[in-house]
Amino acid sequence: MIGIVAVSHSHMLAHTAVALAGEMLGGQPVRIEIAAGLDEQTFGTDAVAVSEAIAAADSGDGVLVLMDMGSAVLSAELALDLLADDRRVRLCAAPFVEGLIAAAVSASGGADLDEAAAEASNALAGKQTHLDAVAVADVGSAPFGTSENGEVQRAAEITREIEWNGRGFAVAESGLVSRAEFVVDNPHGLHARPAARLVGAVRGLDSSVLLGNLTTGAGPAPASSLSRIAALGALAGHRLEVAATGADAAEAVDRVLALAARHFDEAPGLVTEAASVARGTGPLPASPGIGIGPSWQLAAAQFDTTDLDDPGRAETPAGERRRLDAAINRVRAEIDRLRVTAGTEAGIFEAHQVLLDDTEVLDAVHSRISSGAGAAHAWARVLDDGAAELDRLPDEYQRARAGDLRAVRNQVLAELTGRATRSVSRAGVLVAADLTPAQAAALDPAQVTGIVLANGSPTAHSTILVRAHGIPAVVGAGRRVLETAAGTTVALDGQTGALAIDPEPAVLAEFTERAVAQRLQRAAALVAAGQPAVTRDGMTVHVAANISDLADATAAVRNGADLAGLVRTEFLFLGRADAPSIDEQEQAYRALAEALDGRKLILRTLDVGGDKPLPYIEQPPEANPFLGMRGIRLTLARPELLRDQLTAIGRVAADHPVGVMFPMVTQLSELLAARHMLSEVVPPDIPLDIGIMVEVPATAAKTAAFADHVDFLSIGTNDLTQYAMAAERGNESLGSLADPLDPGVLHLIDMVSRAATGRARVAVCGEAAADPAAAPILLGLGVHELSVGPPSIPLVKAAVRELDSTSCRALATRALTCSSAEEVRALIP
Ligand code: PEP
Ligand code: MG
Repeated sequence: MIGIVAVSHSHMLAHTAVALAGEMLGGQPVRIEIAAGLDEQTFGTDAVAVSEAIAAADSGDGVLVLMDMGSAVLSAELALDLLADDRRVRLCAAPFVEGLIAAAVSASGGADLDEAAAEASNALAGKQTHLDAVAVADVGSAPFGTSENGEVQRAAEITREIEWNGRGFAVAESGLVSRAEFVVDNPHGLHARPAARLVGAVRGLDSSVLLGNLTTGAGPAPASSLSRIAALGALAGHRLEVAATGADAAEAVDRVLALAARHFDEAPGLVTEAASVARGTGPLPASPGIGIGPSWQLAAAQFDTTDLDDPGRAETPAGERRRLDAAINRVRAEIDRLRVTAGTEAGIFEAHQVLLDDTEVLDAVHSRISSGAGAAHAWARVLDDGAAELDRLPDEYQRARAGDLRAVRNQVLAELTGRATRSVSRAGVLVAADLTPAQAAALDPAQVTGIVLANGSPTAHSTILVRAHGIPAVVGAGRRVLETAAGTTVALDGQTGALAIDPEPAVLAEFTERAVAQRLQRAAALVAAGQPAVTRDGMTVHVAANISDLADATAAVRNGADLAGLVRTEFLFLGRADAPSIDEQEQAYRALAEALDGRKLILRTLDVGGDKPLPYIEQPPEANPFLGMRGIRLTLARPELLRDQLTAIGRVAADHPVGVMFPMVTQLSELLAARHMLSEVVPPDIPLDIGIMVEVPATAAKTAAFADHVDFLSIGTNDLTQYAMAAERGNESLGSLADPLDPGVLHLIDMVSRAATGRARVAVCGEAAADPAAAPILLGLGVHELSVGPPSIPLVKAAVRELDSTSCRALATRALTCSSAEEVRALIP
């Protein structure tokens, strides 16, 4: 007897469907295996689990596999690749529940694989025939088939007045009916999302609305039914007719036309207007400024197998195996991160994960390493062979998978060889899925006029670097931006999130005008940037720079920074095969101090982990890296790293004004341990300001415990917001939650500032400090230093000069009583 495998995203759905099928069985029991969910609670599919289920279901007569949708199909296809012999396995496109029942019933009656597959594939027929009959009846009598008061009445009305004849609506008494035509110009037609917008647009109106597809003749479909709209098969370029009756008929038609003109709130040609951009939807503003230019994409690092430069190669095969495992783990962590932000596109990353775990591949690589090959060579050779095999397959889908294999090949090689970070800048607008912090750091602001990221979020470290470079950017723009052909003109506004790909001349002219206006505003602010920022009533606010390298330090001075309030030293540690030595660090910090020309330099000790893994620090994969070994937790666990860094900092502090700041401090004991180490490596007579970052809500609440052990507290609103709001900072779908102006976050800032008054200085160095809306509230809460990316300094100083500290305090007091960030933002004049 054949076996059956049920593949679903949901453990519960699959078990329930199998139980339902079991109820229907009259003949022999059928072997049905389940591969569903990543565990009982987590939705997802796993190719390895599918292949195991297939093996378990196979008694020799073959296995029929039924899947729900999306990655279930992908995983089932990958599972076939994992099987030694897949000739007796059939993937069946039948609907999951109906197909499962039909297949089980026929298998139980003795059907073979072909017969069961045919039965399953026909399983929709009953439902279709029934509903088509109802649909036909609907058109003749009550198109909406609803018993709700008014609907039946309207349905009868509309069918008296309108009839669809395939070429348009024939209208009996035209005075009672509003109608119009429109063209669908969404690249993917009226698919689910735009159709849902259409349903929403006419909901609640006193009108019955029908749609017909003039291009294909399909229809009519009530505009209140998502599935019936989908059945219109309206593709890009199709002409549709809308007809409505009832008191609001004209309004209904107007709304549909307006929606169509707005491309159903999608972005045809990927145009989004600033007005439609809200936090968490569509492209998010990420780095202010207007960017215009031809688009270009990052070329993946190329690794030629014959010429593989592998500086970290170990002495022994065992060492090489360890390096390979570590590199694969890092790639796995990076893919996990991308999967979180990829939303509906996560399937591609799931495929990459499966490839990383492919035991056949790993066995082949290990055997080459055992015979003396380096990990990089062995990995490249095995993956190249695999990709070449896929290239030869006749099936287009399978051939396309060679691309996945090569992507995974290059990612692991980039990690192994320390070349993960190299990216080459080109003139124009960079369009990319996402950037690692190291890739962002390597971009040249003189060439890159703008950045559009399909994924990403405004407080991801890569975005912060982009902002520090002053490159205008929008993030979370959706995967379709990746289809932009190289050289296409792209215009973006990093202040509002507006994005235009291949814009009309009028749109381009508007962007250009805005660019000119912003440049003038900046130029005016720059003139006064060297002066202190003093509020109208005489309160001085230090406006500091967040910097990562020498170019930033120079930019900080040029833009009028009073000091460098945050030096993200990790960027000295990224993109290399080993940690920088004490001398190397001293040289780098000294160069920053010299560039700052007497201004204080606050060096933050290494803050890696989370979204900043380092190739030479082996970290076991963590389910939640942001809640794991990062910041001071990691450096206290790797004391040699911290000791070297503090030694280098101490040397520079001997002849420059320097502060040291510890990231991610959660416990007083961590601060005391770090201070103790500092006292061991830096002589007591060297002046050195000591501070902590306040990024963990518990630390904010315990400020009183820390305040007497530090000179300053610097509030990292990026992390503080993600931890307070339980909204990961890299996850663009949580953009609306991760707002530092949420009153919950403001209360934490208030706690810090109250407990620190008279004991330690309070600064803010998260991205909120550069938000013009946030400045008056932060100052009102008692913050006296704002540390921002160098390009933001002139505008922040200009904004401070417009403020009055008494009004800021009143505003902050009101903000603390609000219930949401939106309410807080609405208070700001
Ligand atoms: C912060 O968390 O706000 C911060 C400034 O640190 P980073 O962004 O580097 O984590
Ligand atoms: Mg932080």
